[in-house]
Amino acid sequence: MKFSGSHILSISQFDRNDIERVFEVADRMVPYAHRQRVTKVLDGAILGNMFFEPSTRTRVSFGCAFNLLGGEVRETTGFETSAIAKGESLYDTARVLSGYSDVIVMRHPVSGSVAEFAAASRVPVMNGGDGANEHPSQALLDLYTIRKELQHQGRSDLDGLRIAMIGDLKYGRTVHSLCKLLCLYKNVTVTLISPDELKMPEAIVEQLREAGHTVQESDVMEGSISKVDIAYSTRIQEERFASPAEADLYRGRYRLNQAIYTRYCEPNTVIMHPLPRDSRTEANELDNDLNDNPNLAIFRQADNGVLVRMALFALTLDVADQVDKAARDVNWYTERRF
Ligand code: ASP
Repeated sequence: MKFSGSHILSISQFDRNDIERVFEVADRMVPYAHRQRVTKVLDGAILGNMFFEPSTRTRVSFGCAFNLLGGEVRETTGFETSAIAKGESLYDTARVLSGYSDVIVMRHPVSGSVAEFAAASRVPVMNGGDGANEHPSQALLDLYTIRKELQHQGRSDLDGLRIAMIGDLKYGRTVHSLCKLLCLYKNVTVTLISPDELKMPEAIVEQLREAGHTVQESDVMEGSISKVDIAYSTRIQEERFASPAEADLYRGRYRLNQAIYTRYCEPNTVIMHPLPRDSRTEANELDNDLNDNPNLAIFRQADNGVLVRMALFALTLDVADQVDKAARDVNWYTERRF
């Protein structure tokens, strides 16, 4: 794909070469994200960071990624503080705000709304999550993490990957995007573990099968995570249910802790989660007793998000090859972060 000036709305826009390009640029962002070097390549550029649904990681990591490239971030959070609450259309908001920014990241509770917004925008728009539909930057950082974790184990290839996705696969947009992304690879075994009512949408299962992958579906976690490279846990997306009581029916159904991991998983199985993990007693999908497990990759995953989002900005604004120009060393304390 041509990155410069493009919207990033769906993982379906990418082919395997595009993914390699994103990952190669993300690798080059390490000294900047790890506070060894400073670049001002986006000096003067403005990111409109518009989040109309709760977010910590995605919002802050997009903002931080832009700052690390030297740009400024303007935030809009929640409908109540936006003119959308006065009845303004997405079209009008997009026309106006794209005059104030060089690039926009948007999260919105309605599927398809970010694409609708992008159609009226005068600058590139990145989808920070649209309802239960997609979360493309999360899928990219997930795959980047999977690749890095496997490389750490001495495996160089994503083809042949064995992955289990656990939890709310119906409403979880991160797993929707990740499955679409995995369709670009070969011979993947995808084990989908969810309550019957929260199964992965049939169209996505079909896409996986059409890509030649083996898809297994189960409503039991323990036996199904015994032969996987990656156990990817997800939160029950309570905001998509009619009521919290309905979400309560499924909360806590799948709980991975160290005892279960030791008993059922292969010793190198990597544990992932898009975060936030629901740590309340009634849910506790990834127990805190996994925190010292070296294969718990959830915080490395969040760190990698900054690298991948820096790469997306650098490519979309066409500065990927200028980042190292006018860079310098940092002069403040930076030890022990990474
Ligand atoms: N942070 C992810 C998302 O926005 C996952 C989650 O909220 O459960 O989709």
